[in-house]
Amino acid sequence: MKRIDAALAEIKRVVGPTGFLDDPALLEPYLIEERGLYRGATRAVIRPASTAEVAEVVRICAGHRLALVPQGGNTGLVGGGVPPEDGQNIVLALSRRNRIRAIDPVNFTMTVEAGCILSDLQKAAQESDRLFPLSMGAEGSCQIGGNLSTNAGGIAVLRYGNARDLCLGLEVVLAGGEIWDGLKGLRKDNTGYDLKQLFIGGEGTLGIITAACLKLFPKPRAIGTAFLGLSRVEDVMALFAEARAATADQLVAFELIPRAGIDLAIAHVAGTVDPLASPYPWYVLLEVSSSEEGGGLSALLERFLESALATGLVADGVIAASRAQRRDLWFIREAILEGQKYSGSIKHDVSVPVSRVAEFIIRATRAVEERLPGIRPIPFGHVGDGNIHLNLTQPEGYDRAAYLARWQEFNDIVHGLVRELQGSISAEHGVGRLKREEITRYKSPIEIELMRRLKRALDPDNILNPGKVVAV
Ligand code: FAD
Ligand code: ZN
Repeated sequence: MKRIDAALAEIKRVVGPTGFLDDPALLEPYLIEERGLYRGATRAVIRPASTAEVAEVVRICAGHRLALVPQGGNTGLVGGGVPPEDGQNIVLALSRRNRIRAIDPVNFTMTVEAGCILSDLQKAAQESDRLFPLSMGAEGSCQIGGNLSTNAGGIAVLRYGNARDLCLGLEVVLAGGEIWDGLKGLRKDNTGYDLKQLFIGGEGTLGIITAACLKLFPKPRAIGTAFLGLSRVEDVMALFAEARAATADQLVAFELIPRAGIDLAIAHVAGTVDPLASPYPWYVLLEVSSSEEGGGLSALLERFLESALATGLVADGVIAASRAQRRDLWFIREAILEGQKYSGSIKHDVSVPVSRVAEFIIRATRAVEERLPGIRPIPFGHVGDGNIHLNLTQPEGYDRAAYLARWQEFNDIVHGLVRELQGSISAEHGVGRLKREEITRYKSPIEIELMRRLKRALDPDNILNPGKVVAV
């Protein structure tokens, strides 16, 4: 019997038929991701029901040198969670590990298993009169284990931080099958290296996250949302600074949306309506929240808008007067993603210091337009934390495949500028396969070498998500 067959037979005995999928039709959704950049192959998808089962599966894999790819909601965008094409890795899906173990409203923590869907955690926190602030477009299907493994960001990082900032403790299955129980809910613990940080953002290459202790916050009782039109991108970050100061630390989200994105959404996504009476080249969707009922938030937002109109930073704006209006405004933000799916789109997920966001957008736009006249840059995203999703939509009429074949050429332009501005070439989506080689050009040799040493130390046989993040 081949080594892989022997390992699979042992694994099947541990997880039982419910935890073992090998019917090709059932494997299908685990092999591709949202953008369709990769199509993997695998013999089996393993769905353990407990941490002990995860540990046992990993121990068997280690014994047989069988590599495995952890997978959460499979909403990742960099090829990290899909197996390679050679079929030599199995997929370890965490979806059955979806219990909320405890909510401690006094400690403001929630202890949860890795397979919990993000939106379920948001709801559970809300039912306990608390807030779990991690929030993003994929929240209805991504899992907290995936969020932590990618150190996900999203729309509220500005106020609450990214997944790394929201995690106090982890339970992790290591490459040899040992279980590390680090599920502490402490804000202070200086007893040596902060081991959980290795696994957060580790993209499944250093260990399998099976549970986490997460931070909760007071539940917002008042939320204010505004959609503002701007004439000049140069004004965007000045507006951000004003908004942060004027709203007394209550700013949660500050999203940039270019007119070109709205045009694509109106053209392709039913239900998208122009938010303001006249079009503007740039828009900001901002949100403030307070845990105080009423809280004078509307008045605060109105005063801010009046002053921004008076100084000319903002050309026009609307403040949501109801929950339904708030939902409509956020719908536009989501629709601009959907609207870009109908043409070839070369994507960049980068960050620069907040004060240099406008400079980045102006210079990157100019550079890509010089390279390919007619290209349609769509810079959008969470600019309040310096994160720009610079998507480049193909020129109208250009051949889609020929356009996408030029991805690296545009990477060189955009990432080159990111380097000059001391930014990062992956702000929130991670490295996976997509940027594994690319990061070696933008991180120092010593950084890459330290990453390799960590990988070798924690996974000496290279069985945890091999070929992702860093080559060893
Ligand atoms: P997967 O895609 O299943 O896996 C991602 C990586 O983590 C893989 O390398 C996988 O091997 C590893 N992994 C998964 N679970 C575990 C585990 N338990 N232990 C160890 N390793 C594991 N991301 C953002 O940061 N901000 C956004 O605003 C954002 N918006 C998005 C909007 C849309 C519409 C979509 C489709 C994606 C978006 N993303 C965003 C990307 C994606 O949702 C996040 O990266 C998310 O955190 C991935 O979670 P997942 O459960 O789907 O992980
Ligand atoms: Zn994002």
